[in-house]
Amino acid sequence: MTHHLGQLVYLVASVLFVFSLHGMNDPKTARRGVFAGGVAMALAVLATWMQPEIIHHTWIIVAILAGFAVGIPMSRVPLTAVPQRTAISHAFGGLAAGLVGTAKYYLWVGEGPEQLTSFRMAALVAEVLLGFLTFTGSLLAAGKLQEIKWIPQRPVTYPYQNVSNIGLLALAVLLGILLVLNPTGTGASIMFPLLIILSLAFGVLLIIPIGGADMPTVISILNAYAGLSAVAMGFVLDNKLLITAGALDGSSGLILSIIMCRAMNRSFVNVLFGAFGQVKAAAADAQERHYKSETIEGAAQVLEQANLVVIIPGYGLAVAQAQHRVRELYDELTRLGITVKFAIHPVAGRMPGHMNVLLAEAEIPYSDLVEMDEINADMPQCDVALVIGANDVVNPAARTDKTTPIYGMPIINADKARTVFAIKRSKNPGFAGIDNELYFLDHTFMLFGDAKQVVGELAKHLSGGECGH
Ligand code: NAP
Repeated sequence: MTHHLGQLVYLVASVLFVFSLHGMNDPKTARRGVFAGGVAMALAVLATWMQPEIIHHTWIIVAILAGFAVGIPMSRVPLTAVPQRTAISHAFGGLAAGLVGTAKYYLWVGEGPEQLTSFRMAALVAEVLLGFLTFTGSLLAAGKLQEIKWIPQRPVTYPYQNVSNIGLLALAVLLGILLVLNPTGTGASIMFPLLIILSLAFGVLLIIPIGGADMPTVISILNAYAGLSAVAMGFVLDNKLLITAGALDGSSGLILSIIMCRAMNRSFVNVLFGAFGQVKAAAADAQERHYKSETIEGAAQVLEQANLVVIIPGYGLAVAQAQHRVRELYDELTRLGITVKFAIHPVAGRMPGHMNVLLAEAEIPYSDLVEMDEINADMPQCDVALVIGANDVVNPAARTDKTTPIYGMPIINADKARTVFAIKRSKNPGFAGIDNELYFLDHTFMLFGDAKQVVGELAKHLSGGECGH
């Protein structure tokens, strides 16, 4: 009876997981989506509790407490650190799948060879391979994103790298096939641990050639791997909810990576093997080139005369936590009868939707957030493009310079506006480590400083607070 009830609860949880993902499609329903996902997870734990084969319920309590102990501090990281936080979650997911697979293998070996059917063994191999490679790969990705000193940010490349990586993977797959053919035969006791070691090593080797700039995309690919390992774990444990949830996780991770690759005009294969994100030596030349600066007063005067102002937010806005000041500036400009639009680049910031979330926090109306393709049509009519902490996503070199690593990446055409003001703290390059041609144009003026401070001062000037209007 409890078994059937447990299955029913699993079914409800699966449906809620689908609703959860669907809800996250749109900012208006995203909160509901997150809530549905949380309830689904709680139901999944409850249903597992109800399964007759669970006899040591204390372990579930221990696991819940451990989850809270780790999860609560992890939920408090700033928005800018969410990509690495997500990578750590994937690492845990991968490790869990890998360990469950390992435990199940040895348990079944102990119970007798008849337990290890080819199907079970194939699921085990997939679970262990994907689980352990996701574990080390995600840890390394998180370390690169967190800019941990002893982990190199730049891509680490060496001769025959792709060939040796593929060779290693082929060897792991070969071991897997041998194990499926003969799960407990001679050599299996060595082959299984060797499979684990190869998977752990492959995770590291897969990530070291990838530079920081591609890391968010890689994290979403690792998300897909973690999902697939959960599917395999579902087959191993004969748990339908794990299969469904893992498939949802795997496919959404894959779709997200494809969307991100498209937004950066990069092919999947390129992201995985391209060694993108090298900091070019050219960045040093930037110091020699001439920037024109503008004062707050000067910029405020130009803004006052504008009909259409397009604000282009980027990662720096998130770092400075300037969203509430941006709201003040928006209020001042609209009060003066100026039309203000926000140009949203799909990969501005460090994760998809980063800018939307930030601006929503400051309650900037969603109707004024305009997608890249749509706003680009309006840029020639734009009087002032105000770039706030954005760099790569407005770099015109992406359209013209074939030698730049961001060549072909669609950008917001800030350069087409009549006047460009760019707020940033220094002459340093953006995430891709390259010069920004926009800053050297005749009609571009820099407003050097922290985004929160500069935007705050601009808003104050426009309100008459500083210049006594
Ligand atoms: P970006 O190229 O990283 O540039 C951010 C700029 O903000 C920097 O030039 C920095 O200059 C400035 N900044 C930092 N802190 C600041 C502060 N407190 N006040 C003012 N300015 C500050 O950012 P982006 O234009 O948003 O481009 C996003 C990058 O991430 C792209 O290369 C994109 O491909 C990559 N990416 C994003 C995703 C995604 O899903 N969103 C995925 C993969 C890759 P200073 O240091 O001089 O201040």
